[in-house]
Amino acid sequence: MTLGKALRKALPLTAIALATTVSANEPLRLRLEQRTSISDLTAPAIPSHTLELRAINLGDWPDPEMRSAMRRAAEILAQCGIHTTRIDVLQVTAPETHRYFDTPRSRELARMLDLPRPAVFFAAGTRQIPAFDAEAIGRGNSRTRPELSGTVWIARGARDLGIVVAHELAHVLMDSGEHDNTPLNLMAESTTPDNTRLTAAQCERLNITGQRQGLLRSVD
Ligand SMILES: [Zn+2]
Repeated sequence: MTLGKALRKALPLTAIALATTVSANEPLRLRLEQRTSISDLTAPAIPSHTLELRAINLGDWPDPEMRSAMRRAAEILAQCGIHTTRIDVLQVTAPETHRYFDTPRSRELARMLDLPRPAVFFAAGTRQIPAFDAEAIGRGNSRTRPELSGTVWIARGARDLGIVVAHELAHVLMDSGEHDNTPLNLMAESTTPDNTRLTAAQCERLNITGQRQGLLRSVD
């Protein structure tokens, strides 16, 4: 059983530990703990879709910082009619090697955790080259790393955190790496506190693709 399945089965149990052998002599040991679940987010005036998120603390991020970033991201996505009904905040204790975004190791970690998507990993940093503050992996850019599909990776030190999370989640939900440098647009290449808006076309793409890929649920 993977950790994610074990956790879903065992809730409201608080912690689960599993080990798996990732190489001949080095088992990967992870401990997964549910910290909080946020479910009091205000619904948009006319909700069209619901979204459930999980935020995974891998890098000793302060819980309040993660929670407020996730809340802010949910508020930003609400402009597209998305009601985030639940955000699970999880703590994963992993070996130092697996606390960073690093494709081969992050694949092992994601495979073992097997959490529902979208999942936002708050990592200790990145080992990727080039080193981005944040990365999103949608279906389209996960062919060689399917375990990472539907995940977002945030490196410690990223600024404008809520906006960064919303921006990366929008990439995942749209399954697109496109940017839009129109002033104030959330999908501008560089995130700033003012860049929070999405166009009607972006919202449409986000809703349609997100639903088709099972990341969003349509409100009947
Ligand atoms: Zn981007």
